[in-house]
Formats: sequence, structure tokens, C-alpha cells
Amino acid sequence: MKWFDYAAPRSVSEAAGLLASHPGARLLAGGTDLLVQLRAGRKETDYVVDLKRIPELNAIDYDPQRGLTLGAAVPCYRIYGDSAVSRNYPALAEVAALIGGTQIQGRAWKWFSKTARSAPRA
Ligand SMILES: Cc1cc2nc3c(=O)[nH]c(=O)nc-3n(C[C@H](O)[C@H](O)[C@H](O)COP(=O)(O)OP(=O)(O)OC[C@H]3O[C@@H](n4cnc5c(N)ncnc54)[C@H](O)[C@@H]3O)c2cc1C
Repeated sequence: MKWFDYAAPRSVSEAAGLLASHPGARLLAGGTDLLVQLRAGRKETDYVVDLKRIPELNAIDYDPQRGLTLGAAVPCYRIYGDSAVSRNYPALAEVAALIGGTQIQGRAWKWFSKTARSAPRA
């Protein structure tokens, strides 16, 4: 795998600043797709911005009026382990529990990264 620099910002504004100053940067949520693709040479970058330490991207919050707020870096195990998600969005909880095995579920989904990659799987 090609060498790259790594940054783990603690806020959205810090992440946005890093992306602005590193145009070829790649976002990393769980890394279960990105690192595989970098290792295989299907993607390249010299800068990776890890989103896991940004609190709002790790938030799950359910409000009966507003519905579900799901951060872009929330891993599968937290989605299917959340009682409000299981009660109000059982299909979402079921899908999150289907992806990979326990280790992958501990790092991946990351809701946005799934849609960003548009992988037509579970
Ligand atoms: C062993 C194994 C088993 C797997 N099993 C399954 C399976 O059963 N079903 C399935 O569907 N998939 C499976 N996958 C694929 C992978 O785990 C999923 O696609 C997972 O959803 C990727 O999530 P991630 O958080 O690790 O994404 P990452 O690898 O971190 O990111 C994926 C892409 O999204 C981009 N990205 C991440 N966050 C953002 C953001 N906030 N904004 C914009 N772009 C962003 C990244 O730059 C990257 O291009 C498996 C992978 C492995 C290694």
C-alpha cells in the first residue's frame, strides 16, 4: 500500500479545513472499504482524514417529532444495538446486523460511507 499521511480531526470544521488544504484527501469512516481499495491499488491518496473522532458524526438520536438523527460515522453495532432504532426502524436495525461479521460491524457501516460508495450489497 502506498504511504499516506493521516489526520483525525475532532470537529466538522477542522475536517473541512483539512479537506480544503488537501484536495486529494480521502475520508475514512470504518475503513473496511477504503483501506481494502487503497491496498489493492483501486484508489490512491496521500492523505486520509479519519472521521471517527468527530462527536456529531457518531451521534444516534431519536425524537418522535424529528425522527432519527444518524451520524455519518455510526458503526453497525450501535445501529442495531439502539433500542429506539430497533423499535421504530426495525428494517434499518436488521440491515445493520446483516453486514459482515462482528468485527466488521464494530467498524463499518458508517451510514454515509455506504451510500457514498453505493455498493449494491446488504
Ligand atoms: C470482511 C468484510 C466483509 C464485508 N461484508 C459486507 C457485507 O456483508 N455487506 C456489505 O454491504 N458490505 C460488506 N463489506 C464492505 C464494507 O464493510 C461496507 O461497505 C461498509 O459499509 C463500509 O463502511 P466503512 O465505514 O468501513 O467505510 P469506509 O471504508 O471508511 O468508506 C467507504 C467510502 O466512503 C467514503 N466516505 C466515508 N465517510 C464519508 C463521508 N462522511 N462523506 C463522504 N464520503 C465518505 C470513503 O472515502 C470511502 O470511499 C465488507 C467488508 C469486509 C472487509
